[in-house]
Amino acid sequence: MQSYVTIIPMNKKLIVGNWKMNPVTLDEAKKIARKIKRASDSLVSVETVICPPFPFIVSCTSKNESKFFHMGAQSVSVEVDRGPFTGEVSATMLKEIGVKYVIIGHSEQRARGESDSIVSKKVKAVLDAGLSPIICVGEASRDEAGAYLDTLKNQIKQSLADIPAKFSSDIVLAYEPIWAIGAQEAMKNEDIYESSLFVKKVFSDLFGPDAGVKVKVLYGGSVNYRNAPDIIAIGKVDGLLVGRESVNAPGFVELLKAVDLLK
Ligand code: PEP
Repeated sequence: MQSYVTIIPMNKKLIVGNWKMNPVTLDEAKKIARKIKRASDSLVSVETVICPPFPFIVSCTSKNESKFFHMGAQSVSVEVDRGPFTGEVSATMLKEIGVKYVIIGHSEQRARGESDSIVSKKVKAVLDAGLSPIICVGEASRDEAGAYLDTLKNQIKQSLADIPAKFSSDIVLAYEPIWAIGAQEAMKNEDIYESSLFVKKVFSDLFGPDAGVKVKVLYGGSVNYRNAPDIIAIGKVDGLLVGRESVNAPGFVELLKAVDLLK
């Protein structure tokens, strides 16, 4: 099947807003989406993705096409297309409504039973449908001896098990140390740099050095408009996965503008 995944210029930062189960009303969702879309239209070095809850995706989609503002989904079924799978939403359906990215393996989903093997099946389903998976990985805690690096490596390898190399350029990795999600502070910028390099290294072991250089690695965990520029500049990540701040329209717009200034 032909992939229609957008090729993002290497210098564009990818900023993804994971709205989680927010907001409660459709009206509120549309307002937030409108404000973010309007701001993103004037940016030059940022690609913006918002991931509203399933029922709001269509209404949050702008009628005015934009090359660098896209819709994402927060999850997807392992089943590719259609069938007797009550409660499930397929990647094909998401593509049909204009979704380009799908978050897979978020720690909140993993905590409810989404294993690496399920993640790998979802990644395959999303890629087969011509969409881009944003695969979340991250350790639950850190130790002096560095065992967390093995955890991270295994998670990446297993989440990407059986994924053909031809898809490597469509994959986005989000490094999200679990202890930094929903916390007071983000991880230290220097540690983000070290981890993002490690994630790229594991990816290059799987798909080759060229793929390792090109893959976009995002950081997620307590990002806001104040810390975002340094996380990108010092942490040297290719973008951000933002939770709480992404449904706070003024804060998220500030964040996008601050990252755009980095050029
Ligand atoms: C997340 O849930 O992916 C996340 C990064 O959340 P927050 O930004 O609120 O820490």
